[in-house]
Amino acid sequence: MKISFALASLGLAALPLLASGPPARAEVKVEDRVLVPTSKAERRAVPFTDVHLTDNFWAPKEKIYRQNTIPNNWKYLQQEIEDNEIAAGWKHIERGSDTPWNQANLFKALETVAYALPQEPNPELQTKLDGIIKAVAGAQQPNGYINALITVRHMTPWTNLDGQHEGFVAGHMIEAAVAHYQATGQRSFLNVAMKMADHIYQHFIVEKNPGVCGHAELELALVRLYRVTGEKKYLQLAQNWIERRGHPLPGQNAASRSYFMDHLPIRAVPEVTGHAVRTVYYLTGVADVAAETGDVGLAQAARRLWNDATRRKMYVVGSVGSQEKDEGFGPDYDLPNSGYNESCAACGMLNWAQSMWVLDGESSSIDVLERGLYNAVLHGLSLDGTTSYYRNPLSDANSVRNNVWVCCPPNLSRTLMRVPGYLYAQTTRDIYVNLFASSTCSIKLANTRVQLAQETNYPWDGQIKITVKPDKPAPFALRLRIPGWCPNSTLELNGKPILKPAMEKGYAVLLRLWRAGDVVELKLPMPVQRIQANPKVLEDKGQVALQRGPIVYGFEALDNAGRVDVQLAREAGFTTQARPDLLGGVTTISGRAGDGRSLTAIPFYALANREPSKQAVWMAQQGQLEQPKAWPDEQMRTPVDSWEPASLSNRMNHHRGSIPRHGCSGPPDAAVAAAQQHNH
Ligand SMILES: [Zn+2]
Repeated sequence: MKISFALASLGLAALPLLASGPPARAEVKVEDRVLVPTSKAERRAVPFTDVHLTDNFWAPKEKIYRQNTIPNNWKYLQQEIEDNEIAAGWKHIERGSDTPWNQANLFKALETVAYALPQEPNPELQTKLDGIIKAVAGAQQPNGYINALITVRHMTPWTNLDGQHEGFVAGHMIEAAVAHYQATGQRSFLNVAMKMADHIYQHFIVEKNPGVCGHAELELALVRLYRVTGEKKYLQLAQNWIERRGHPLPGQNAASRSYFMDHLPIRAVPEVTGHAVRTVYYLTGVADVAAETGDVGLAQAARRLWNDATRRKMYVVGSVGSQEKDEGFGPDYDLPNSGYNESCAACGMLNWAQSMWVLDGESSSIDVLERGLYNAVLHGLSLDGTTSYYRNPLSDANSVRNNVWVCCPPNLSRTLMRVPGYLYAQTTRDIYVNLFASSTCSIKLANTRVQLAQETNYPWDGQIKITVKPDKPAPFALRLRIPGWCPNSTLELNGKPILKPAMEKGYAVLLRLWRAGDVVELKLPMPVQRIQANPKVLEDKGQVALQRGPIVYGFEALDNAGRVDVQLAREAGFTTQARPDLLGGVTTISGRAGDGRSLTAIPFYALANREPSKQAVWMAQQGQLEQPKAWPDEQMRTPVDSWEPASLSNRMNHHRGSIPRHGCSGPPDAAVAAAQQHNH
C-alpha cells in the first residue's frame, strides 16, 4: 500500500472520539453461541493442524520462521501491542498520528504464531500470545468495535472508508482469530472477532450505512469466520460487501474507482484493474462467497478475472502488480522485468488460487499456487527469515533487501507458515494431493479415517511415494495433481504401472477399495525447461527463462564472472548439481553461454541472499527463437524446449492446465480435455 494514502487519512487524527454507542442486543451472547462449522463448498483444504511436515525443504524453513522470523516480527510491533493496552485502559499514553493499517501487521503476526504452535509446542510463545489476545479483547469497545489504533488516536470509526482501512484491519483480525481457534480450540480470540463482525453487520446491514472499505480483506475473512462458526450473517455480510462495490457514491468519480475495483459491479467487470493487493483480496472473497452460495454469476466473474490475471498479467514467477505508479495491474502483457510486484500481492495470489480451487476444483489453480509459493513468495523473505522485499522485480541491479517494515513482512511470514495447509484437500469421499512434500496427514472421510505418508525430495526430485492407511478397507478416490509443468508423469500402484489413469481436472484419479499399506508412486521427470514468454511481452522477446520442476531460476553476477547480460548457447548442455552447502541447500543449473563461458543459475527465490549482485531471470538466447505457429491469446508465458521440435510436439500432445498448450487448435478448454486423456 502507498504511504501517501496513509497520510491522506491522518487528518482525522484530531477529531474527537465518537461515543461507542449502545451495546449490540444479541439474543445469545457470543460466548454462548454454539459453533457449528458450516460450508456448502464441496472441497476444502485439510487443516494445517492435521498435516505434519517431515521434509528437507519446508520443514527446515518453517523452523527458521519459528526461530527467527517470529521473534523478528515482535521487534516491530511493540507500539501496536501497546496501542491495545492503552485502548484497554491498562496504560495512559497520548498517541500521535500513525499509518491507519498498522494493527493489521500485528494480526498477521498473531496469525503466523497460530500456525507455528501446532508445529512445535512452545509454552513461552503461547503465554505471549495469550497476553496479547487479552489486550486486544480489552481494547474492544462496548458496541463490539475494535481497532486500537483508531480508538487511542480519537479517530471516528467508519468515517473514511477509502483511507482508514478498518475493514482491512478487521479482516486480518478475523483471520488471525480463526487460525488461533483452529490451532488451539480456544475461543478467547474468536469471540472478539465475532463481536467485531456482529458490530460491522449492525453498522452496515441493520443500520444501512453506505459505502465499503477501500481495501478489501474483510470479505474473505468473513467467509473463514462463517466456515468455523456456522453464523450465516457473516456470509451474508461478505456477500453484501462484494455487491456494494461498483456502485460509486455521490461525488465519487466512477473511472477513478477502478483503483479499488469499485468502478463496475462485480458481475460486469471485464478485467482486473487497480491496486493489485486490494484487487486480489477482493476477488478471493468473490470466489469464496461463490463457493458457499453457489451463485453462478459470481463464480463466472471469479473465473473470468482469474483467467485474466494469470494468463495476461502474471509473471513467470507468479508475481502480479507490475505497475509502480499505483502498485497495480497494468494492461495485458505489460510485464517489464523492473516491475513492481509487491510481496503482499504474491501472498494474495496464493489465497486466491486456493479459493479458486475450492470453487471449481481445477488443478490449474494449484499450478499457480505452486508457482507463486516456490518462487514469488519465497523470494520475498530472506533465507534467514529476518529481512524481506517489498518489491520483487525480476531484474535487479542491487540485491540488498529493502526490509521496510510495512505490510509485507508479516504477510510473508503468515503465508509461508501456511504451507502445511496447502498440501492436501478433500471432499467427504475424495482425497486430493495438491502439493508434494514429505509429510504425514490424517483425513476424515465419510466412511473412514485415512493416514497418508508422503515421501519425496521435492522440489529437487520428482519421485513421490505415498503410503495409504485407512482405518479399515474403504472405497474412495485418491486424486493426485499432475503439475502443468510436467508433460510425462508416470504412476504405479503397489509396484504395478497404471498406464492410463482416469484424468479429471488435471488430477490422476485412483478410485478403488484402499487397504492399509497400499503404495502409490508418482514420477514427475524434471528436465531443465526453457520458458519462452508470449511474444506480446515485448521486454522478453528473444529471451528464455529456466525452470526445473516448480522452481524458476535466475542468475546472479557473482556466480557468472560479474555479468548477467550474457547470451545462452543454443546447445547449452545443461547439468544440475545438488548443493546442500549453498543457500540453505539448492540444486543449481549449469550451462554454456554463446561465447563458450560457463553459466550458473540458482533458484529465483534464493537470489539476493549473499553480497549485492546484479540479477536477471530472463536471458538472451543465441539464434532465432522458434515461435509456435498458433499461440493462444490467453496464455502469457509458455514453457517450450524451443530447440527440440520433437519434444515440442510431444508437449503439445500432453500439456494441460495453466501451463499453456501452445499449438493446440480449438478453444482452450477443449484442448485441456483432449490433453488430459493423453496424460499418463
Ligand atoms: Zn505489502
